Amino acid sequence: MDKAELKATIFDIEPYRNEDGPGMRTMVFFKGCPLRCLWCSNPFGLSRDPQLIVNVNKCAGCRKCAEVCEASVNCFKEDGLHVDFKNCALCGKCTLVCIPDARRISGREYTVSEVFEEVQKNELFHRRNSGGITLSGGEVLYQSEFASELLRLCKTHFIHTTIETSGFAKWEAYESVAKYCDLVFNDLKIFDTDRHKKYTGVGNQQILQNIQNLCAFAEKHRKPKVIIRRLVIDGVTTDEDVIAGAKFINDLPTHPEINLLPFHNFGETKYAMAGKEYPFEDKKLLLARDSLMQHVRDLVVEYAPNCVVSLGGGNINA
Ligand code: SF4
Ligand code: SF4
Repeated sequence: MDKAELKATIFDIEPYRNEDGPGMRTMVFFKGCPLRCLWCSNPFGLSRDPQLIVNVNKCAGCRKCAEVCEASVNCFKEDGLHVDFKNCALCGKCTLVCIPDARRISGREYTVSEVFEEVQKNELFHRRNSGGITLSGGEVLYQSEFASELLRLCKTHFIHTTIETSGFAKWEAYESVAKYCDLVFNDLKIFDTDRHKKYTGVGNQQILQNIQNLCAFAEKHRKPKVIIRRLVIDGVTTDEDVIAGAKFINDLPTHPEINLLPFHNFGETKYAMAGKEYPFEDKKLLLARDSLMQHVRDLVVEYAPNCVVSLGGGNINA
């Protein structure tokens, strides 16, 4: 098979993003993720399958979706539109009669050449702003063969390449993608494996091993640049975990940069749009306060003296 015809399920391609890598980026969001982080801000990326998304706040109440739906997914009660997401057959008929932004099918298969065509539309812009492409998700390594080929193609056109990953994959798959990357953001969500499993659904032994492998690879090949991301959440982030993680990263080859990100709940409204409950509904896990961010930063600086420590997602140099 011609590798340009490899397919992956993608749920969004966004040009002109100025974070998640240097300069202006074209973001490609892969659908499907093996983790279930309670704080996930991208619920459309969890399932590998396409899904119906409905924003009831944008609904104009025309009832055309109920008229065209043969599966009786949409019905109107006194309080407005109700959507029976699990019975949706994904035929897309309702999206054709609806107004813009109120409903859509999220996710479809793209070939490598189709995505690359989209990226090339922004090539001039990338060059002017020292930007490039960032593969995100969902989990990009879940569809590693496609990602590897797309990034290889980008490198043949001198496009800067970045991925954002949980690092949860077989090393062979990870390496096949990393070798075409200029920059890798790898999360280290929680250092203690039992707590990692509690909050994300999986342990982190493979992730820690992959981070070690990645840094050894980067040392040998002089790329990619590695940035380890640590999310700070009030009520989840502990001093003990921050210190243990900082010591681990400090001893890695190439001493990767450590990027501290404050937890936000921007993804909350997306859950209802996908017919899901927001896992943080009980509000036990809180936004990171400035004082907590500063405290965590001070700890990381103390216990990872070999590493550059940065706050927030912007201003990334590579
Ligand atoms: S077709 Fe769209 S705007 Fe009309 S009722 Fe259905 S969701 Fe609302
Ligand atoms: S996509 Fe098809 S089955 Fe699903 S709600 Fe719309 S019309 Fe009904």
